[in-house]
Amino acid sequence: MQISGRNAIVTGASRGIGRATALRLASLGANIAVIYSGNEAAAAETVEKCIGLGVKAKAYRCDVSSAEETKNAVQEIRKDFGSVEILVNNAGITKDGLIAFMKEEDFDRVIDVNLKGAFNMIRNTAALMLRSKCGRIVNISSVSGIMGNAGQANYSASKAGVIGLTKSVARELASKGITCNAVAPGFIETDMTRDIPAEDNPLLSSIPLGHMGKAEDVADAVAFLVSSDYITGEILKVDGGIAM
Ligand code: NAP
Repeated sequence: MQISGRNAIVTGASRGIGRATALRLASLGANIAVIYSGNEAAAAETVEKCIGLGVKAKAYRCDVSSAEETKNAVQEIRKDFGSVEILVNNAGITKDGLIAFMKEEDFDRVIDVNLKGAFNMIRNTAALMLRSKCGRIVNISSVSGIMGNAGQANYSASKAGVIGLTKSVARELASKGITCNAVAPGFIETDMTRDIPAEDNPLLSSIPLGHMGKAEDVADAVAFLVSSDYITGEILKVDGGIAM
């Protein structure tokens, strides 16, 4: 699909992988609706950078776990942009802990943001894509959702759920010209991973390519999946070889 001139929603685009993805799509000519949860200044910076690339961009504060807030945000975006052809479900959080001690609210919150958030956004944008007779949905999963990760039962479950959601939506919407794929990053340098110790860390030394990835590495994969007309239901790992 030609990306230039399309309208894209990127959730969690105020920082990290979401911001890099918004800028990558903007550099290819897409207009960008930036969804963020609280960091207004960072969202405004993403918007400014997108506009600097010559496209239209606007920020929307919205908790993706809320059915009502996502419905309202998508309605606003439709009013401002007219249509939506691209959705990148990137917003995500971690609340790590060992399973025996994990609080119920930490399990629920991670599932609500990471999995239900993607569901909410797809449900609210699917009708717009059906009207456009084309659409590209990319969900950000994780290698934790493929391999599991000790201390991340909630996060791994949410990201494995995103993979099931991706494949079901891909099957359901394929005949309507809408593709749905996922990207599964490994360890990427963002705020989410800034507390991972770099020295003598078995997690990092297990990366075959020998170093963490950059947000732009994930953004490249998202842009590739958005541009493809014949890939759907795929889970593309961007992990330096961890989960091969
Ligand atoms: P990050 O730097 O922590 O940024 C998280 C983004 O999500 C921010 O823009 C934040 O908005 C937004 N967000 C958080 N909760 C939200 C909510 N309830 N509603 C709307 N937006 C919300 O994270 P990241 O590392 O870029 O990760 C992005 C995605 O990649 C996540 O889904 C994550 O699970 C996944 N991932 C990351 C890695 C990694 O190594 N970094 C690896 C695998 C998968 P505010 O700025 O307003 O708080």
